[in-house]
Amino acid sequence: MKKCKVCKKEIHGRSDKLFCSVRCKNYYHVNLRKVTSVAVEEINKKLHRNRSILLEILGKHKAQKKIPRIELEKRRFSFKYHTHMNINKAGKTYYYIYDLAWMEFSDDDILIVRKRPSDYYNSGI
Ligand SMILES: [Zn+2]
Repeated sequence: MKKCKVCKKEIHGRSDKLFCSVRCKNYYHVNLRKVTSVAVEEINKKLHRNRSILLEILGKHKAQKKIPRIELEKRRFSFKYHTHMNINKAGKTYYYIYDLAWMEFSDDDILIVRKRPSDYYNSGI
């Protein structure tokens, strides 16, 4: 006999049920959310901080801007935190933080770019 994932009571009814009651089901999902948010909170903070730094430098309307790498280092930008990456046809790696990205233009310079939703359709990601 199958047992409830929360209270371990025997489950009656449909064979694909995981919980004995709506109460146990809700408890499970609330708890899962709590555990998940603790685990991702710290990294999310770093990602959001990184995005804020890029946004401050880039401004609201510019599509891209080249800056000295030291400017990001001074603001304690965390280069290892990004959401995803993409290598373009020229072999350059773009590190994304949601809709903004940076690319190591040279040893000393960083290019910051804003990806608009239409860019995603064209880039084949
Ligand atoms: Zn239960």
